[in-house]
Amino acid sequence: MTILELRNLTKVFGGRVRAVDDVSLTIEAGATFGLLGESGSGKSTLARLIPRLIEPTSGEIFFEGKPLQNLRERDLRPVREQIQIVFQNPFSSLNPRMTVRELIGEPLYIHKRASGAALDEQVREMMRLVGLNPEHTNRFPHEFSGGQRQRIGIARAIILRPKLLILDEPTSALDVSVQAQVLNLLIDLQRTLHLTYLLITHDLSVVRYMCDDVALMYLGSIVEQGTVQRIFRQPAHPYTQALLRDIPSTDPDQRMLESVSLEADIVSAPWNGQGCRFSPRCPVAQIGECKTVEPALVEVTTGQRAACHLVKPHLVTP
Ligand code: ADP
Ligand code: MG
Repeated sequence: MTILELRNLTKVFGGRVRAVDDVSLTIEAGATFGLLGESGSGKSTLARLIPRLIEPTSGEIFFEGKPLQNLRERDLRPVREQIQIVFQNPFSSLNPRMTVRELIGEPLYIHKRASGAALDEQVREMMRLVGLNPEHTNRFPHEFSGGQRQRIGIARAIILRPKLLILDEPTSALDVSVQAQVLNLLIDLQRTLHLTYLLITHDLSVVRYMCDDVALMYLGSIVEQGTVQRIFRQPAHPYTQALLRDIPSTDPDQRMLESVSLEADIVSAPWNGQGCRFSPRCPVAQIGECKTVEPALVEVTTGQRAACHLVKPHLVTP
């Protein structure tokens, strides 16, 4: 069953920055869908568009088949209980003046689900569930380590029992040694609470470890998408191929997108808005079509779509 569908979702900032550009995707209930992209590719903007924390410029969002775009603020409330976001930085996303009890319990309070002793009990239950000591309810964020703070952020996001959790780079601010613990917690919680994840990351190994499906975002647009199994075995788009070329899975510094060498970086080779957005950096782009016609995201084989003029579907081994 499809839990989330985005159709042609677009967000333009200031009339000119196309942060999210015509994105369509579907996420199945219970799955972990990875959204992979470099810094500035539009991942966080996409995350915030889904529960309409920011308004799309155009496009449609369907949650459990229901369109969200025309809902009034009041009617969005129940939807926002079902869709929660865990933010990237547990150091800046938690109010330093609030106790853990207030931080984790606030959604219950805002949505009028519980107060007083009942709220306290639910907070302690969430703390146990995410591996925090439930006796520490009166502590402040600075008294916790980075990993523990992200557990607070996760507890806050799941206390309303959402169906969809959007995880915006949930471990990228954490020490490598702590990252795996938080990822394993997320795997456990998904099983216990029947959650669907949209997992945003720029770490290929996180995608491989966690995700069923993955979409690669480049300058606001999805350039390749499919099952993790397919994409990692046989990437079709030159961008994905460059990313996946010889990734040493054991060296954490080598597996980040930022470290991948392409012909040019995104700053020195800007896209002029014509043709393929990846063409200024593409090692195989050709004069002509690549520079003049924007490639559509088309199926290259079952379970895999790519937006590249040079990918010949019949040449991809199924
Ligand atoms: P990512 O999360 O992949 O790093 P973002 O979604 O944060 O990317 O940003 C995508 C693009 O949109 C960037 O060029 C960024 O500068 C721009 N952007 C994001 N938020 C805003 C905003 N509120 N106003 C103007 N531009 C923005
Ligand atoms: Mg971001």
